[in-house]
Amino acid sequence: MTPAQLLSQLKKWGVKYKEYEDWEEHNRNHKGPWGPVYGFMWHHTGTDNKDQRLLLRKGYSELPGPLCHFGIAQDGTCWLIGWGRANHAGSGDDDVLRAVINESRKPTDDEANTDGNRHFYGAEFWYSGNHAMTQAQYETGILLSCAINDFHGWNEESEIGHGEWQPGKWDPGIRSGDMEDMNRVRRDIAARQKMGPKPVASNNQKTQTYREVWDLDVAPAPKGHDTGGNKYRAPISLLVWIAEQQDVINKKLDEIMKRLDG
Ligand SMILES: [Zn+2]
Repeated sequence: MTPAQLLSQLKKWGVKYKEYEDWEEHNRNHKGPWGPVYGFMWHHTGTDNKDQRLLLRKGYSELPGPLCHFGIAQDGTCWLIGWGRANHAGSGDDDVLRAVINESRKPTDDEANTDGNRHFYGAEFWYSGNHAMTQAQYETGILLSCAINDFHGWNEESEIGHGEWQPGKWDPGIRSGDMEDMNRVRRDIAARQKMGPKPVASNNQKTQTYREVWDLDVAPAPKGHDTGGNKYRAPISLLVWIAEQQDVINKKLDEIMKRLDG
C-alpha cells in the first residue's frame, strides 16, 4: 500500500486521521528490508501521556523511530507517524507469521527467530496497558484494521497483538501483565468488515445527536405536547418548525416559478 492508497482507504472507512510531519518519508528502510507485509499488529505505548507523537516519531537511543505507522490518541485520532520499515514488532515467532499469512488460528509464540518489522503494519495505542484503551481508541483500531484488510483482501486473522508475536510481550494490555482478548478483537473486526465502509452511528453518537436536537432553542413546544419536564422545547417541536419552514420555502418557490412563467 502506498501512502496515497492508505489515505484513500482511511477516507473510505471513515477513520479519523491526522498527518504528523513528513510521515510518508519517515522510516527505517535504510536499516533493513520492508515488505512483503502480511499483517497488522496492535500495541500499547506503556504510558497514558496525552501527546506521544514525538516519542513515536523519534523513538529513543536504544530504539530509534519511527516506532509505528499509526499512533492512536485517547480521543481516537489516528496519527500517521511513519511509512515503511518501523521499529515496533521486533523478532517473533515464524509459526505465528505462518498463521497470519494463512489467516488461521494463532499458535503460542515461543520463538523469536523472525524479523517482524519487515512484515507488519503497526499501531501504537496511547495508553499504559494497565487498563483498557478508550472506546474511541478501540473503535479506531477496528476501523483501521478493516481499512487495511479491505485493501489487501485480508480478513481478521491478519490482525495480531504484539503479545501474540514476541515472547514476553503482553500488549495491547487490558490490565497489568494481561493482553486484551485478541480473539474478541478479531471477532469485532470481522463483524465490522462485514458491514462494509458505510458509517455506523455508535450508541454514543446517537445519544449525542438526540441531545443536540433536544437542546436547540429554535421553537416552542407545540401546545399540549408532553415535553418531559422541559416547558420550552421538545424534539418534536423542532420537526414542526422544520416543516413550517419547508412550507415557507415552497410558497416562495411557487411565486418565483409563476413569475418566470409569466
Ligand atoms: Zn509492542
